[in-house]
Amino acid sequence: MTAAPRVAIIGAGPAGIYAADILLSRIPDARIDLLEKLPAPYGLVRYGVAPDHPRIRKIIDALHDVLQHPSIRLRANVEVGVDITIAELLAAYDGVILATGADRDVALDLPGADLPGSFGAADFVAWYDAHPDVPRTWPLAAETVAVLGAGNVALDVTRILAKHATDLDRTDTPDDVLDALAANPVRDIHLFVRRGPADVRFSALELRELGEQRDVDVIVDPAELELDAHGERMLEQFSQRRIILRTLREWAERPPSSLTASRRVHLHFRQRPVRIEGEQDVTGIEMERTASDPLGRMIGTGDLVHHDVGAVYRAIGYRSSSVPGAPFDEASGVVPHREGRVVDADGVPIPRLYATGWIKRGPIGLIGSTKSDAAQTVQHLVDDLAASDRIGDESDPLAHLTDAVDWTGWLRIDDAERRVGAQRGRERTKLVDRDDMIATATPTPPAVGDGLKAAFRTHPAGIAIITAATQGGPVGLTASSVASVAVDPAAIMFSVTRATGSAGALLDADTFVVHLIDEDHTDLAQSFATSGADRFTPEQGWIALDSGEPHLPGARAALRCRALHTIPVGSSTVVIAEVLDVVAGPSGRPLVYLDRRFHSLPTHSERN
Ligand SMILES: Cc1cc2nc3c(=O)[nH]c(=O)nc-3n(C[C@H](O)[C@H](O)[C@H](O)COP(=O)(O)OP(=O)(O)OC[C@H]3O[C@@H](n4cnc5c(N)ncnc54)[C@H](O)[C@@H]3O)c2cc1C
Repeated sequence: MTAAPRVAIIGAGPAGIYAADILLSRIPDARIDLLEKLPAPYGLVRYGVAPDHPRIRKIIDALHDVLQHPSIRLRANVEVGVDITIAELLAAYDGVILATGADRDVALDLPGADLPGSFGAADFVAWYDAHPDVPRTWPLAAETVAVLGAGNVALDVTRILAKHATDLDRTDTPDDVLDALAANPVRDIHLFVRRGPADVRFSALELRELGEQRDVDVIVDPAELELDAHGERMLEQFSQRRIILRTLREWAERPPSSLTASRRVHLHFRQRPVRIEGEQDVTGIEMERTASDPLGRMIGTGDLVHHDVGAVYRAIGYRSSSVPGAPFDEASGVVPHREGRVVDADGVPIPRLYATGWIKRGPIGLIGSTKSDAAQTVQHLVDDLAASDRIGDESDPLAHLTDAVDWTGWLRIDDAERRVGAQRGRERTKLVDRDDMIATATPTPPAVGDGLKAAFRTHPAGIAIITAATQGGPVGLTASSVASVAVDPAAIMFSVTRATGSAGALLDADTFVVHLIDEDHTDLAQSFATSGADRFTPEQGWIALDSGEPHLPGARAALRCRALHTIPVGSSTVVIAEVLDVVAGPSGRPLVYLDRRFHSLPTHSERN
């Protein structure tokens, strides 16, 4: 192949981004389209890694640097299999790499697993990490909780449940999560591991972190740390497990008098769940003690233990979802492949289709391991490209995806998150709502935002945004931009439709008068409609524009204004107008209707 190949990568998690990076290092003129179903890139680094692990989250900085490459086109908010098919991609690209990761919990086949109060860790993680597609409330009502699992996700869930919300204040956690965690009544968290203490999958560092939290004690029964022959063998073989056992023993040796924290994490080993109990909600869990047979296999002992708990978190593993149109092995939960070349049911490689990351290897391993994984897959892609003819069609297969969030759109979201975060002394606060993210990413709001920024520079005292339109419907403003506006206006913002409204012509005048009218003033509204002033409907708005009258009788207030900025938005014009003068209404102090609440507006002389 001689011409620059075009490659589509599905999934902008670390696996997809590393694959893009490695591909560009091997074929510098390759053109890469990176498709991502969420409005934001970075996969589980953004929506899985715990918020109190900022050092790991920093990996995003390195991934960001890769995505800036001019040969990579990000198209987020595009779900392959829904917005575009695998077949369409295979027809248009010289190579297609699946890097769709894992996004849900492994099912736990256990009586009571579906009871309210039995939660999958993936759902809980998605909630506290502000995933845009999960409900924004979480029922944190139990004082005693069970967590099932022996890996780092189980530790993350335990730590976040035990954490005092104020200890997450400096992280990117959204306020609704912090509020819910602040009201969490939890006192005791029981973490159950099926195997013995020498068989856990925790990393030593993450386990240690559990004991370093403010006002949280970790409690270990020394009897649970006794090792059988299998455990002794594990310790001899793996240094990490020796470190883990040392930490556990330190905790087990603490005198009970030193355990004074308001929250406690109890670690239990060699117990496996038998049933989750409860009629309407979870009320308890029955566990069975386990042991290792001479070959190290875990067996049940028949010895049952009951624990009263009000919630159960199942952290027993993640699972990938299939991508429509691509093969998927339901049994192993991955895409069938040979060293990254995707194969069909007969084991024959599907031309131009590859896989990398958790969808290839299964949901195990740290972020770093997706890099070596991507290197293997990309090597095969490069070999195959060298041996193949280019598809050659230069039309853009993604041209119809007009709702896609591109790199500039993501930078706008990134910027908005950093600005909201900076107000709280944090690096960022995540935007959560998908529509809000997309509105922030799309070009229209920034045009308004630019005008707003300019108006703020002129009027640092503040701008009132009157969301009602005089005509043509309200302007689409993102919640965050409305929330950031001061209440005390030195300028106002509203929208008009130039084409049909007389208001449009008024804006060309040097000054004009804005009358603020009460919602229930329908007679006044009608007189406006017939008098040739701007049209007005009580449902739509409370603002009317007029050139003459200094104060319309019956109006709450009248503001003499001059247009500062006019910004076209669709068929309307958003106007930011400087308030030159305030004419008090009949009741003395005028009021501005702002975001469906009345706020007091100082008179001109009070402002100066
Ligand atoms: C709770 C949790 C905590 C973790 N903490 C750590 C940690 O502290 N340190 C560490 O090193 N590792 C951690 N990991 C592991 C790490 O997150 C993974 O190794 C890594 O994210 C896997 O990368 P990936 O790109 O294969 O998958 P993902 O990160 O899942 O990325 C896949 C991407 O594909 C997108 N996608 C899926 N389907 C489609 C589709 N049809 N169309 C378009 N896009 C699609 C997804 O939205 C996602 O953005 C953690 C994992 C979890 C679950």
